[in-house]
Amino acid sequence: LVRREGDDVLVRTTSGTVVTGAQLVERACANEGLITVISRAQGPVDLYRFERFASVKQRTMLAAEHPTCAWPGCSIPAERGQFHHLTPWSHGGETNVANLVTLCSYHNGVNEDDPNAPPRRGRLTRDGGKIIWQPPHTSR
Ligand SMILES: [Zn+2]
Repeated sequence: LVRREGDDVLVRTTSGTVVTGAQLVERACANEGLITVISRAQGPVDLYRFERFASVKQRTMLAAEHPTCAWPGCSIPAERGQFHHLTPWSHGGETNVANLVTLCSYHNGVNEDDPNAPPRRGRLTRDGGKIIWQPPHTSR
């Protein structure tokens, strides 16, 4: 990644050529047939409230964003993980990529879903498109 430019990014390829993100996607799709591009501000494939569980497409995208559990310091591979709603489904959270994150079953269990529950271990949240750990006793 070279830098942002407008709504796109400039990427240096392994041949040294600098292309836009859109050009890279075009090239990659023409030759490879599969590429995952994640907007850190908005999820590209969203299910809203139609489905509670992440689709295969969403799981692939989320694993590209976080190849391992997103909890700081955890290295459980995404393929053994779960897909967690940052705003819980029970609180109206949507099954959209922007509201989902890869967690291992342990960290999915200790993540504090209910913002009104007594703080114990903190929770993951998305801030500026990036997943961050929010410690107990804090709010956004
Ligand atoms: Zn974990």
